[in-house]
Amino acid sequence: MSTLEIKNLHVRIEEKEILKGVNLTMKTGEIHAIMGPNGTGKSTLSAAIMGNPSYEITEGEILLDGENILEWEVDERARAGLFLAMQYPSEIPGITNAEFMRAAINSRRSEDEKISVMDFIEKLDEKMELLNMPEEMAERYLNEGFSGGEKKRNEILQLLMLEPTFAILDEIDSGLDIDALKVVSKGVNAMRGESFGAMIITHYQRLLNYITPDVVHIMMEGKVVMTGDAELAKRLEKEGYRGISRELGIDY
Ligand code: ADP
Ligand code: MG
Ligand code: MG
Repeated sequence: MSTLEIKNLHVRIEEKEILKGVNLTMKTGEIHAIMGPNGTGKSTLSAAIMGNPSYEITEGEILLDGENILEWEVDERARAGLFLAMQYPSEIPGITNAEFMRAAINSRRSEDEKISVMDFIEKLDEKMELLNMPEEMAERYLNEGFSGGEKKRNEILQLLMLEPTFAILDEIDSGLDIDALKVVSKGVNAMRGESFGAMIITHYQRLLNYITPDVVHIMMEGKVVMTGDAELAKRLEKEGYRGISRELGIDY
């Protein structure tokens, strides 16, 4: 079992404090949802976990199995089993999707354990079929000219291929129609298991009809203000963020 702990995390962007003491612990085997109004710091939290250098950590710790990872580079974090699906995935011209994934898989393996081309293709075919993706998507340059929905689907393909320990999925549901939403959910649910944990960041409850979270956290104003089970997401659907903020006396 692995643990990802975020302790009293404070993050600043351009002199402005965005995260004001986030506390959150997750374990493999669990799916956590992070919900909250726009501009509350959800994407900032995911960027800080992955080590985006534009985000200045002024206080707190991020511990992976007890080890503080704050000084680690982005690629070290990825090799340690962290995966981030970004709200706006970037395009990488000149590298095909398949090349990227094979390199990413191999970067986590020692010399004598590299994945063979045959095994890679077999695995890729299987995962692409699960996600109803056309074969040619593998040979296209990474995210170049991908539609919004294709990018999201592709992030889930990467997730299934890389098999990280912890995945942070930032608004993988935004802009998806219901069919794409179901496919993306199927991919995440296929990863569920004792050696995998996910943090699903979403603005809406809709995605959680397909991926039932074990734990739901509400973020407001740069902090986790409430934690509960899947029922909390349903309550949010009924009352909106207003209901919760009023109860807690938070102005947002
Ligand atoms: P969420 O994902 O919850 O919508 P974000 O983490 O994207 O929230 O943003 C939190 C706050 O930080 C917002 O006020 C946003 O304007 C600000 N912010 C985010 N990224 C940047 C940036 N690169 N430069 C300046 N401000 C930023
Ligand atoms: Mg936002
Ligand atoms: Mg965001």
